[in-house]
Order: sequence, then structure tokens, then C-alpha cells
Amino acid sequence: MDDLHGKSAVDLQFALIDQALDKRGFALRFPRALEEQFEQETGPVRVRWYVRMALLSLALFDSLIVLDYFSLPDAFGLALVLRFGLVTSLTVAAVWITARHPPAAVREGLQVALSTIMALSIYMLVVASASPLRENYHLGILFVMMFTVMVLRLRWRYALLAAAATVTVQLLTLASLQDASVQSKGASAFLSLAFAGFALVALYSLEKMERRGWLRSVRDRLCAQVFEELSIIDPLTGLGNRRALEQWVTIQRQVHVGRPVSVVMVDIDHFKAYNDTFGHLAGDDCLRRISGLLVSEARKTGDRVCRFGGEEFIVFLIDIDLPTAILVAERMRREIAARRIPHKAPIGPPFVTASFGIATGALTDDFDLNVLIEGADAALYKAKQRGRNCIEPPLLGLAEPLHATG
Ligand code: GH3
Ligand code: MG
Ligand code: MG
Repeated sequence: MDDLHGKSAVDLQFALIDQALDKRGFALRFPRALEEQFEQETGPVRVRWYVRMALLSLALFDSLIVLDYFSLPDAFGLALVLRFGLVTSLTVAAVWITARHPPAAVREGLQVALSTIMALSIYMLVVASASPLRENYHLGILFVMMFTVMVLRLRWRYALLAAAATVTVQLLTLASLQDASVQSKGASAFLSLAFAGFALVALYSLEKMERRGWLRSVRDRLCAQVFEELSIIDPLTGLGNRRALEQWVTIQRQVHVGRPVSVVMVDIDHFKAYNDTFGHLAGDDCLRRISGLLVSEARKTGDRVCRFGGEEFIVFLIDIDLPTAILVAERMRREIAARRIPHKAPIGPPFVTASFGIATGALTDDFDLNVLIEGADAALYKAKQRGRNCIEPPLLGLAEPLHATG
């Protein structure tokens, strides 16, 4: 959340989530961006579930060949072809595609197609057989429907499609039974529709709960991220604090192994007197100006400015050795003095100045940020001792403080 873009993106995400949480209505769908994230996070679990359940349902479906042998002896050949030929090969193909994480519509659509094909094969067996036991076979289609809606738990819209398709096939199967009475066929049809209705209502509320739970988890994660970012940013200057620097340096250690690094510690001179003279608010303003100036003097990448304490800043420079760090610090010192921000210090020039302490090391295995900071702090102490408005170690030939020239 370093910049305005970061902030507005997070705000936008919060607004989207809150809007989705507040939304009343029937549709089980998020706005596009959220829906994509939801699919991304929940899709892989679905794939694993569908693959396992497709194989389980195939095993159940194929094992019913024993039932065919005793119940539909006149259609046993067709049963072999339908169960071990058509349905088995299509299920294996669907599992193969599903396991490759296709788009959600393909993944869900394949499961709808499989359940419809299972239902249709049962219908074909019933139509092909003259056995009186075929009358019970329509119950198999009911099982296919229940398995798809309640065990597989397809996304609701697809479950609705699967239920509509399988119940239609079941009604066709019932209609094809000439010997059964209208009353018994009607009762079976009514039961099927009722089962499908109940299962769909249950699945709808399950998916709704899943979606709301997911939205809340995204919101919690986003809050944690915002708190984490706030905890490493100084609200006055917008710079990172010491923790931010430590995190950043940890990352840089992996990227710039063995490279030289320098720490420049900056401390505003006689800042207590500045506050005493102009007030704390003016002091805050001055801190913001100095921080902005340090940032504008630093490189966009490779340098990091952070607020280390009250009126102290650290500039961390990557790939910068001591002679170059001295030049950078001297340039910053001159820039601060050149702004001529009015000051009434007990001693020294009538404008704001700062002192600088520099220490250099390398991002080797034994690199310790604290050691470098301590080195820069000790150097800063020396700069203050030498009269302030100067850098330590000094730029060769400019060892004296530059009160007069600034
Ligand atoms: P020196 O030249 O030795 O550094 O003297 P100094 O007065 O700058 O140092 P000292 O440590 O005595 O005082 C630092 C002052 O910085 C004291 C405190 O009031 C001020 N300060 C620290 N944080 C803030 C802040 O957030 N806002 C403002 N306005 N002042 C702050
Ligand atoms: Mg200080
Ligand atoms: Mg100071």
C-alpha cells in the first residue's frame, strides 16, 4: 500500500466484498473479479473431488452388471456394451479432462453430461428389455440424480441442469413402461420431482453458505494484509519504518548476494529547538519536507528511505560502496541546507540542516543490519560532535562543517 493506486485497489476490493455480502437475491454469482478469484481458490478442490467421485460412481454403475444379469437377461449384451463400453470410456475420458483443470464451465458441464449419459443408458436398458423386473430400473436414475446433486455437489446452476436432465430421462423411462399402472407411474414421477426439488434446495443453501464463508475469509485476509501494511508504515511521512526496512533488506539479501551496501543515517540538527520555536505542527511539516527530499534524492530502485525514529531517517543503498555513499550523503546534506527552511537554532546557520553518519558492509552470509545501523549511528555521533551539518566519514577535502556555505 505504498501509493495511492495500492490504497484504492484495496478499498475497491473491500467495497466489492461488502457489496457481495450485503446483496440479497437468488443468484449465486459474484461480480466478475470476485467470481474469478472464487473459482481460482475453490476450483482445484472441486477437481480432486469430482475425479474421485466420478471413479466411485463408475465403480458402482459397472457393478450393477450383476443386477442386469439376473433382472434383464434379455438385454444383458446391451448392458455389457453400455456399462463397460460407453459409460466406462466416457467417464475415463471425462476424468482425464477434469484432472487437467479445464475452465469451470467445462469441468461442471462434463459432470452434467456424465450423469445424463448414465441416466440414458438405464433408459435404453429398460426400453430394450421385456423383463417384468425392468420396472424398478427407473429408481437407478433417481440414484444418479441424487448422487450428482448431493454427493458430487456440482455448482448449483449445473446441478439444476443435471437434475432437469436426469428427471426428464426418468419420466421418459416411466412413460415407456406400458405394463405399469398410471397411478404407480404418477406416484413415482411425483416422488422423483420431490426428491430433485429437496436436493436442489439443500444444495442451494449449501452453496450460498460456502460463498458467504469464502467472502468472509477473503475479507479477513484483506484486513490482516492492511493491518500488516499499516504496522510498517509511518503515517506522518508515508515512509516505511524500521520493520519495513528489515523486511525489505531480508528480500534484498536473496537478490543481491555478496553485493556492497551502505547505510546513511540522517538526523535533523537542533530539531527540538525547531519544535520549541515554531510548534509541533510546523515540526511535522518540516519532517515531511525532509523525508520527501531524501526520497527524491534516492534512486527509485536499489535505495530505500525509512523513518528510523523521531527526526532520524535511514537511507539504505544497495550496490553502493563507501566512497559513493559519501557522495550521495553529501548531495543530500547540501540539498537540505539549500532549501533554506528557516530555523532559530541556538548555534549554527539560520536554516534547517542535518547531520549524516555512513557505514558500509556487504550482503554476505554473516550480514547483520543492526551492526551496520550501529556503525552509521556511531558515525552520526561523530558528525554531531564535529559541529553538525556535515557527514561522517567526511568527503575528502571537506572535513570542516559547512555552516557558512550550507
Ligand atoms: P541534535 O542536533 O543533537 O540532533 O538535536 P535535536 O534537538 O535534533 O535532538 P533531540 O534528540 O534532543 O530532539 C529531537 C526532537 O525531535 C525532540 C522531539 O520533540 C522531536 N520529534 C520527534 N518526533 C517528532 C515528530 O513526529 N514530530 C515533531 N514535530 N517533532 C518530533
Ligand atoms: Mg535524534
Ligand atoms: Mg536531531
